[in-house]
Amino acid sequence: MSFLDALQASPTLFAAFCGLLGLMVGSFLNVVIHRLPKMMERGWQQQCAELRGEHPAQLEPYSLVVPRSACPRCKHQISALENIPVISYLVLRGKCSACHTPISPRYPLIEAISGVLCGFAAWHFGYGLTAAGAFVLIWALIVLTAIDLDTQLLPDDINFPLLWIGLILNLNGAFVSLHDALLGAVFGYLSLWSVYWLFKLLTGKEGMGYGDFKLLAALGAWLGWQMLPLIIILSSLVGAVVGILLIVALKHGRNIPIPFGPYLAGGGLIALFWGQPLIQSYLQVLAP
Ligand SMILES: [Zn+2]
Repeated sequence: MSFLDALQASPTLFAAFCGLLGLMVGSFLNVVIHRLPKMMERGWQQQCAELRGEHPAQLEPYSLVVPRSACPRCKHQISALENIPVISYLVLRGKCSACHTPISPRYPLIEAISGVLCGFAAWHFGYGLTAAGAFVLIWALIVLTAIDLDTQLLPDDINFPLLWIGLILNLNGAFVSLHDALLGAVFGYLSLWSVYWLFKLLTGKEGMGYGDFKLLAALGAWLGWQMLPLIIILSSLVGAVVGILLIVALKHGRNIPIPFGPYLAGGGLIALFWGQPLIQSYLQVLAP
């Protein structure tokens, strides 16, 4: 029996293997979350320099693969042994092995979330293309959430490929039919776009950004137009509760923008796993 046969035969083994895969990819997601916004900023600065007719500055190469990860304080290079997801953080007790500067608990947290969600998706969907697709969606949503929290941006470099991958997977109906996926992408974009303009015309303020429309378009391409109302309701509910808590507890100013991307991502994840039964139950309440 080959290893793939064994994975196919045992749901537990498959979930455990995918959980490990999720942990390891989570380590790479941390790199993307940290570096992608910096890479975008460097790109914009280069473009501005070119527009001003200046020679673009010669910068050190900086991408998702170079330079190697190092401690931001003492530049100690992170060895392979110090880069084992979650475990290295626990063994090092959350500190750099050279200068003992604390390491953010966010790194092991992202790895753990990726591991748990991938293990759960493997269990939920079973061996096959749908599970593999679900991992891609989970990883993209984790990265988008963290980058939006850090920078209030949802990069096109992730939103656009996510939309295309969703449509391509649904060519053979991995999650929904291509028809539902295409309408999902169109209405996902248009629905938040209309809310944005309505809000702007009524209040003169911008309630969300174009990145939010593109993310909902991508979620529509993955999960179909039928999931859009559910995703919007779930994300608005959670967003309203968290927003009120922030205003009350932290005296967070009412005009400070709260990124909407993380709530959309959360709503999308819930729709990925439990969308069908949730829609069934609210349709029954509306039209018993
Ligand atoms: Zn250090």
